[in-house]
Amino acid sequence: MKQIMDAVVIGGGIAGCSLAKQLADLGWRTVLLDRQSFPRHKTCGEFLSPESQEMLSKLGLDAVMESLQPQLISKARLIFEHGGSVEVPLPGTAWGISRYTLDSALHEAIIHAGANVRTGVTVTSIKQNEEGYEVKMKRHGEVEVIQARTVYAAWGSHRHSNMFNEPYPLDSSKPSYVGIKSHYSGIQPESVTELYFVKGGYIGISPVENGYSNVAALLEKGVVKGAGTTIPVILESASKENHQLVERMKHAVPVEGTQVSIAPVHLSHHPLAWHVIPHLGDAAVVIPPLCGDGMSIALRSSILCCAFADRYLRGEISLSRWQEEYTQAIEHEFSGLIRRGRIAHVLCSMPRITRWFPTVVRICPPIGKYLVKATRLKSYT
Ligand SMILES: Cc1cc2nc3c(=O)[nH]c(=O)nc-3n(C[C@H](O)[C@H](O)[C@H](O)COP(=O)(O)OP(=O)(O)OC[C@H]3O[C@@H](n4cnc5c(N)ncnc54)[C@H](O)[C@@H]3O)c2cc1C
Repeated sequence: MKQIMDAVVIGGGIAGCSLAKQLADLGWRTVLLDRQSFPRHKTCGEFLSPESQEMLSKLGLDAVMESLQPQLISKARLIFEHGGSVEVPLPGTAWGISRYTLDSALHEAIIHAGANVRTGVTVTSIKQNEEGYEVKMKRHGEVEVIQARTVYAAWGSHRHSNMFNEPYPLDSSKPSYVGIKSHYSGIQPESVTELYFVKGGYIGISPVENGYSNVAALLEKGVVKGAGTTIPVILESASKENHQLVERMKHAVPVEGTQVSIAPVHLSHHPLAWHVIPHLGDAAVVIPPLCGDGMSIALRSSILCCAFADRYLRGEISLSRWQEEYTQAIEHEFSGLIRRGRIAHVLCSMPRITRWFPTVVRICPPIGKYLVKATRLKSYT
C-alpha cells in the first residue's frame, strides 16, 4: 500500500527545521527535504537576536543551543558613508553563530525528534489531489514522488515559478538585491554587530565562532555588476567609499570555502502566507537584513503555522479555514515590521538623513534604542 506522509516540509533552513521539529514532536509523520547537502554555508549576517534565542528555547532546542559556541553581542554600531557613526545597546544579548553550525545542529535535533531528513533532494513540482498533495523531486537525476496530507514552503526567498500549476502573485520590489557573505580571519573581534553603509547597500560585520568574523552584504544588483568575479573582490570594491570599513578590513583574510551568495533578493511589500500551500520564513516575508531579525520571522512563522497544521491534521479545521486564519495571523504579526523595516532601509540610504542622525542619537540616546526596537519582532509570549 502507498505510504502517505502527514507532512512534507520543503527547505531545511531555520523555518523548515523548526516546523519539522514541532510537527515530529506532535507525532506527525514528517519529512524534511532540502536540495543542498549539509553542513553548508548560507548567505546571512549570522546575528541571532535575543528574540530568536527565546523561540529556539521555547521549541525545546535548549540542548542544541548549549552545544553551540556563539560569540556574545551586546551592541549595534552603524557607520555611515560620510564617516558619522552611532552605537546603540541591544535590548538583550545577541549571538554570533554561523549558519553552517546552527542549521546542522537543527538537523540533528529534528532527526532526534523522529522526522525523516533528506538532503541533496530538489523538489520540482507540487500538485494538489484528493489525498492532499503529490510532491515530485529529483535526486541525482532520478525522479521520486511522495504523497502527503500537508506540504509546506520553507524554501527561502526564491520564487519557484514552475512549482505549481498556477503562477505566483506578484510582489516584486525594485531594485532587486544581491546578498553575499564570507568569513574572515584578521578582523579584531568585538562584541558588536557593525553595519557599514556603502553605495547601493550595506555590509555587516559580526563575530562568529573560531575567532572569525562574518562579513555579509546586501547590495543593489547594479553595484555588483562588473565589480568582480569573487565574493572577496566584490566586498572590497563595495567597501571602497566607506573609509572606516576599509580600515576595519585592512588585515582581513577570507576563510576558504565560506563564500556564498543569493540573488535576486526582493524585499517584501506584503507577506505571502499562502499560495497553494502555507508559506513560512523567507518564503512568506523578506525583511531588510539591517533589521537582523529574518531568523526570528522564520521561527515565529513556523510556530504560527504548526498550531494550524496540527488542528487541520486532527480534522478540527478545514483547509480553507487554515488558509484564512493563518493568512490573517501572518499579516497581523509581520505587516508592521515589514513597513518599519522598509522605512529604516530607505532612510539609511539617504545622505541627508544619515548626516544628522548620529548627532540626534548622541543628544537623545532613547531615539537610537527606539529605532533598534522598532525594527525587531516583539518578544514571543
Ligand atoms: C545579506 C543577508 C544578511 C542577513 N543577515 C541576517 C542576520 O544577521 N540575522 C537574521 O536573523 N537574519 C538575517 N538575514 C535573513 C535570514 O538569512 C533569513 O531570513 C533566513 O535564513 C530565512 O530562513 P528560511 O528557513 O526561511 O530560509 P533559508 O534559510 O533560505 O532556507 C531555505 C532552504 O530551502 C532549500 N530549498 C530551496 N528550494 C528548494 C527546493 N526546490 N527543493 C528543496 N529544497 C529547497 C534551500 O536549499 C535552503 O536550505 C540575512 C539575509 C541576507 C540576504
